[in-house]
This record gives sequence, C-alpha cells and structure tokens, in this order.
Amino acid sequence: MKELQFSAYAKINLTLDVLGKRADGYHEVEMIMQSIDLHDQISLQEQKSGIDILVNHPLVPNDEDNLAYRAASLLMETSQVNSGVRIEIAKNIPVAAGLAGGSSDAAAVLVGLNQLWNLGLSKQELMELGSQLGADVPFCILGGTVLAKGIGTELIPVESLPEIDLVLVKPEISISTKDIYSRYSPALVKRKPELKAMLTGIRERNIQTIKANLVNVLEDITLHYYPEVQRIKDQMLEMGLSSVLMSGSGPTLFALVDSSEIAEKCVNQLKSVINGQVIGTRTGKGN
Ligand code: ATP
Repeated sequence: MKELQFSAYAKINLTLDVLGKRADGYHEVEMIMQSIDLHDQISLQEQKSGIDILVNHPLVPNDEDNLAYRAASLLMETSQVNSGVRIEIAKNIPVAAGLAGGSSDAAAVLVGLNQLWNLGLSKQELMELGSQLGADVPFCILGGTVLAKGIGTELIPVESLPEIDLVLVKPEISISTKDIYSRYSPALVKRKPELKAMLTGIRERNIQTIKANLVNVLEDITLHYYPEVQRIKDQMLEMGLSSVLMSGSGPTLFALVDSSEIAEKCVNQLKSVINGQVIGTRTGKGN
C-alpha cells in the first residue's frame, strides 16, 4: 500500500479589506495572501476502504468534522474512488489563529490524494472542489503571493514576495472567523488598505513600502473586542518591532523583521513576556 508525505503551509494576510456584505450573508473582501514556511505535516496511507484520521492536537477533531477528512470524502464521492486512506496530521500551525491551518490541511489532502489515487485532476479542478470546503482552500492549493477577491476564492497571482523573516505571536485565546465578521462594523475601522501601493511595494521588492502598507480592517474589530490582543500588539511595538499586523480575523499577530538573527532574538524575548505561542518563520512559496 502506498504512503505519501505532504507539507500543508500556513498563510498570512499582507492586506485585508472588507468591501461590503452580499445578499447571501458572505462578506466581499479584497486581500493579499502570502504563504509562509510554517506548516503541518500530512501523511497519506492508502488502505482498502474508508477514511481514518489521526491528529495530534486536542482542539482539532479526530473525525468527520476535520476539514481534511471532509476533503478526502468529497474527492472520494466526486471521483468514485474504490479505495480508502488513513490521514495522519502533525499540527504545527496554531489552531483558530487566522493562519488558515484547517484550510491548508484540506488543500494538502486534495493535492495529495489526487496523486495517491492517480485521479489526474488539474490544479484548477482541485481549487474548484476546495472552494466547496472553505473560502481559503483554493488559495492554499495555489500558494505564493496572491490577490484574492469576491469571498476570497477569486485568485490573481501577483509577483512573489522576496523571502522575509517573520515573528508570529498567537495569543492564548482562540477566535472564530465567523465571530469577527459578524461583529464587523465600518465605524470601527481606522485605516483602509491602499492596494495599489502594496502591489507596487511587492513588485519593486521594497520592504519599507510593504511594511508601511500592512493594513487589515479586521484588526480594528478584533483589537476592539479582545483587548488582550491589543496589549500583545503594544508589547511587540514596544520591543522595537516596527510593523506588526494581525493575520486574517486573528488573533495571530506577525511582524516582518530584517534577518533570521533578529527574528530569533525577538522570539526569545517575546517567549519570556507573552502568554501564547511565539514562532519564528519566513514568507514562502507554499505548494
Ligand atoms: P482561517 O484563517 O481560514 O479562518 P483559522 O486559522 O482561523 O482559519 P483553523 O485553524 O482552520 O482556523 O481552525 C478553525 C476551526 O476548525 C478549529 O476550531 C478546529 O477545531 C476546526 N478544524 C477542523 N479541521 C481542522 C484541521 N485540520 N486543522 C485545524 N483545525 C481544524
């Protein structure tokens, strides 16, 4: 029986804007998404029938509620597969963090099973299937630096960002994306992203312009309702980190830093003062 290993990469948002609410309740967004090196490790083992799943994290379901299980089940149904799979996930991506951890696992399972079961589906076909599981899944299949529109599933790849070192801080609390969107109010937003300026910064590989244009309108909502996230952001700024932004709906905060040495120093310093997970990583290409 075949066995394959895959990495499922997390993402951050370099910008995130909410343009409005659609009649179906979804929010219309415009955001630049970026894959990062931080990843879960996924092992797919072929078995005679059925889907088994094993995850090493107390907050992640070990059953059909796992997004990776749902990805396998969807692929089995749509491709009429006469085989099964055992999925093992070693989680490194913080959970309910704004880093698309679950979506990334689902994306890796779609890509991986397409290979394991020799289904021959194109990337585009996998992305279309992925959009049935969650708005971030198509991006996780594509990876890299991408402008996302609509509900986040209309993807336009842009020039890739140079590799930049990052410090991530995931505060102890978990936040659901749904909760933050339901509390979204334009009145709470202090600054809107300037998409053109950020795209110019990325195209010119100008880190200063990129840092100056890191804006996420959901950050204002999360910081308003969760003051402990604001406190951690303040602590990061006081340490001298110049550009700190929340990813997605939070609560993870990230800072772009100039070298891996600086990242390591900041990680050690933050670990001693912050209640949460502190991780040093870098921007990456994703899949
Ligand atoms: P996004 O950035 O896409 O909004 P997130 O990073 O905020 O996602 P996830 O880590 O994907 O959030 O977790 C959200 C919820 O999904 C968790 O409460 C978790 O129980 C559930 N979940 C289901 N499958 C997974 C999985 N494979 N990995 C992590 N969480 C999962």
